[in-house]
Amino acid sequence: MEEKCPICHQISEKVKSITVKHLVSDNFLGEIVNEETYYLCMNENCDVVYYNLNNESILDKKKVKVPIWFKGDANPKYICYCNKVTEEQIINAVINQGAKNINDINKLTGAMKNGKCMLNNPLGKCCGPIVLQTIKRALQTNN
Ligand SMILES: [Zn+2]
Repeated sequence: MEEKCPICHQISEKVKSITVKHLVSDNFLGEIVNEETYYLCMNENCDVVYYNLNNESILDKKKVKVPIWFKGDANPKYICYCNKVTEEQIINAVINQGAKNINDINKLTGAMKNGKCMLNNPLGKCCGPIVLQTIKRALQTNN
């Protein structure tokens, strides 16, 4: 079953609570309920970041330590949270330094080196697919 955000009713992605505990600001850690699974609202226009299944715990972006890259006003837009590499740096590496693939980006920006994705990435997953998306988009713009 697909989980929908309690506020905007758009789709969400499952996230482990260990990720949520790591990314929520210290002042709001008390709002995290002891549950295995949280959800991340994927709607770029919605302020909700994390919530749990019963919606007892809804954490908006003001309560999270890092900007969520796909939310409309994220600044900076980190793609690789482990090494603090932004969307802008990846696009720049493609357009100005001739990067064409993940390997090039890894060498030029340091993205995906020594990743602790479960703790640092808002989805708790490797940023590789998003890096790839960003490269493809930049290559298209460049042509
Ligand atoms: Zn939402």
